[in-house]
Amino acid sequence: MGIAGQYAVEDPPHSIPGTMKAAVYRGVNDVRVETVPVPDIGPGEMLVRVHSCGVCGTDLKKIATGSHSAPRIFGHETSGVVADVGQNVRSVRPGDRVIVFHHVPCGECFYCEHKTFAQCATYKKVGCTAGFEPSGGGFAEYVRVLDWIVERGTVRIPEGVSFEQACFVEPVNTCMKGIEALRLQAGETVLAIGQGPIGIILSVLARRAGASLITSDLYPERLKIGRSFGLDNCIDASRTDVVQRVRELTEGRGADAVILAVGGNSLIRTAMDAARPGGRVLLFAQTQHGEAIIDPAAICVDEKTLVGSYSASVDLQEESVRFVMNREMDLERLVSHRFPLDQSTKALELAAHPQPSSMKIMIQPSSSWAGSIREGNPQ
Ligand SMILES: [Zn+2]
Ligand SMILES: [Zn+2]
Repeated sequence: MGIAGQYAVEDPPHSIPGTMKAAVYRGVNDVRVETVPVPDIGPGEMLVRVHSCGVCGTDLKKIATGSHSAPRIFGHETSGVVADVGQNVRSVRPGDRVIVFHHVPCGECFYCEHKTFAQCATYKKVGCTAGFEPSGGGFAEYVRVLDWIVERGTVRIPEGVSFEQACFVEPVNTCMKGIEALRLQAGETVLAIGQGPIGIILSVLARRAGASLITSDLYPERLKIGRSFGLDNCIDASRTDVVQRVRELTEGRGADAVILAVGGNSLIRTAMDAARPGGRVLLFAQTQHGEAIIDPAAICVDEKTLVGSYSASVDLQEESVRFVMNREMDLERLVSHRFPLDQSTKALELAAHPQPSSMKIMIQPSSSWAGSIREGNPQ
């Protein structure tokens, strides 16, 4: 794939315009590309020119359910170049390539001291905005980064690491948190159901934790990508019974742990059946409340455990940064589609209705950057 330009910054720096394009959420399933003011920044803040922003399942959920008031500009897997800094900012300079977290804890309050970071008042505030109620702002040409994020939620992208690779810090963090919840022991067998980008990241992290992996997906295209990450033990679920195959591979027992990385509830039963007695099942993509069919005796008699994990963990921030920036995994290979900001609605549409060939989808305002920066290549 053409990643020339991923590492370049402009010389001399461009001048910041007064208006920009942004994908504005206007209501349920209503996102429009509009022209909005480039946000002003105050002391301690910075303005980042967005290179790439990953489309995340949680963005899609907010857009489809109307869980948040409109208007807003979403997007939180953001990488870009510092375009301007406010007074007193010393940690970054214009031209620096960075990723920004959209929220970080204060590190000092009662809740932070007790490591329940999600309860920290600072953590609950979103610190990146492209206008309107702060909501991430990565689906815009520029994002304003508030002072506490400049101080504690900004990571410089090392030389040799692409903007796209860097966008994966947040999703990798959420996957690391899920793997922690499974408490894997070295040598355990893990079945990962679903080999979309998140399923593949979870599988690689489970293997890194010492497990041996079996993967399954309905789409052979995805298994092939998984294989390129060394996940060879895969089941084509379109033609093979996954539960039966997993039992065959585990002396009839079932997997020690099963990761369900496919949304919806229809595979929960399969995941539980594929786990051995006393095994664990991680629900990683079941984000909608509702009812699901579960065999209660699988939990009571067979002592199988259901665990869940959602969102990122502050405790894993450094580890996820290291994993991504040291390129322990070539994450940019998981990007299947890159859309210019103009085509954000298409990007969101495709992400909401994944195809066999669609993996991670990026919105790239940088497709309109001058000369040396990447050419736009929406696919
Ligand atoms: Zn995300
Ligand atoms: Zn705090």
